[in-house]
Amino acid sequence: MAADAPKLDFTTFHNVINNELVSTATTRHSINPANRQPNPEVPVSTQEDLDKAVAAAKKAFKAWSKTTFEERRTALCAFADALDANKDGFAKTLTMEQGKPLAQSYQEIGMATTWLRTIPTQTLPEEVLEDTEDRKIIHHHVPMGVACGIVPWNYPILLACGKIAPALYTGNTLIVKPSPFTPYCDLKLGELATKFFPPGVLQVLSGGDDLGPMMTAHPGIDKVSFTGSSMTGKKVMASCAATLKRVTLELGGNDPAIICEDVDIDAIIPKIAILSFLCSSQICMMIKRIYVHEKIYDQFLDAFVKFTKTLKSGEGNEPDVFFGPVQNSMQYEKVKDLFTSIEGEGLKPVLGGKIEESDGYFITPTVIDNPPEKSRVVTEEPFGPIVPFMKWSDEDDVIARANDTQMGLGSSVWSKDTERAARIARQLESGSVWVNSHFDVAPGVPFGGHKWSGIGMEWGITGLKAYCNPQTLWLKKSL
Ligand code: NAD
Repeated sequence: MAADAPKLDFTTFHNVINNELVSTATTRHSINPANRQPNPEVPVSTQEDLDKAVAAAKKAFKAWSKTTFEERRTALCAFADALDANKDGFAKTLTMEQGKPLAQSYQEIGMATTWLRTIPTQTLPEEVLEDTEDRKIIHHHVPMGVACGIVPWNYPILLACGKIAPALYTGNTLIVKPSPFTPYCDLKLGELATKFFPPGVLQVLSGGDDLGPMMTAHPGIDKVSFTGSSMTGKKVMASCAATLKRVTLELGGNDPAIICEDVDIDAIIPKIAILSFLCSSQICMMIKRIYVHEKIYDQFLDAFVKFTKTLKSGEGNEPDVFFGPVQNSMQYEKVKDLFTSIEGEGLKPVLGGKIEESDGYFITPTVIDNPPEKSRVVTEEPFGPIVPFMKWSDEDDVIARANDTQMGLGSSVWSKDTERAARIARQLESGSVWVNSHFDVAPGVPFGGHKWSGIGMEWGITGLKAYCNPQTLWLKKSL
């Protein structure tokens, strides 16, 4: 650890309001999903706590919005360095609260520091629309004010930092609300932030199920950036409408991958499997429907099952674990219910198919052989390690099937013929479309969903603009 980096203690957890660590009268805890044991107590914020945070954020906005991009970049990079210096504590805590294997926790922290350092290297140039003797017209972007970042439980550190960097860099102040299932690392991010940002610039409040609705209804909050399920996204948008808050919604997905007959099966199987099962499939942009050309279907499915059998399940601190548990009891019950459709709909599992009871919320990795297009495992977002394989032969038909969903987050096409793949890719209805990859993301690249997968985009210049109001300046040169 760098000698001057603040060292966090990961045993007690507080709200961060106006750069003070604050306790609440009531506390709660979440459950370690690998063993169902209670994690430490965290605050349950009240309306009064939120009002205090909003007042501090509003006050801080006045000075913070007047700092330069350079100053804000420096602060964000120093914050990233301190996160990096504390990565062992964060990784351990992330595995404890989320359940993901330790190596995947380190990966998430590595991504978060990259996002914190890279997003502020972008610039939001002013556009001069007219410059004559008489007048100059400039179109530019100004910060919105107090933003609120609502974060889900699958990637609590990356998804919080993916909001912190653009919100603060563009001159806004931000209140982060973690999921009640994974509040620990986000509260520690807030504590760390007290060393790098003025009071009120970055605050973190943990709470129960009522805190999100309190925030979306709060008249002092100008912008909500929400990441979570499509169902909750609709509620967020409805609530924000009452005060005309600006909203970005990053929602669920049901990503298809279309595999053409010319692929090198051995080369891509590990990629497709990992991109279906990373974080026990609890990633919005994991591959959730695999369409394989009928000419290679049997061989591909066999190879996929064989490879998946080599991936180890277990508690995240055990060596070489790939599959951790799903994150919480609600998700566990949801996936268990989806598993009942295997028997109920007469589906054919070629791997797994039954959940073995354990101390934690572990789901047996499962692969379903050619289920009907309307079966639940195809139409629903499982958010657990169960994936359906389907056959295709006609290009237009597979494109139509891939698009036949309310979701539109990501999709991919796999082929040696990159022209053909790009032709298919351009017809897919999703915010990201990859050829010969899936789930590639980068801090400088906008990311978001079509249809019920979201509204607006985060990251890249588009993501910076999402935290700004556009403004047109008409500058007359004489009276
Ligand atoms: P969720 O919608 O249940 O909760 C997300 C967050 O919203 C949590 O912090 C929760 O406390 C809060 N919340 C719940 N009800 C609210 C309300 N009425 N008003 C305001 N906030 C409220 O989602 P989840 O179960 O935590 O996450 C899983 C879902 O998130 C999946 O559908 C997944 O695909 C999606 N997701 C999307 C992205 C993306 O970038 N598109 C990334 C990760 C996860």
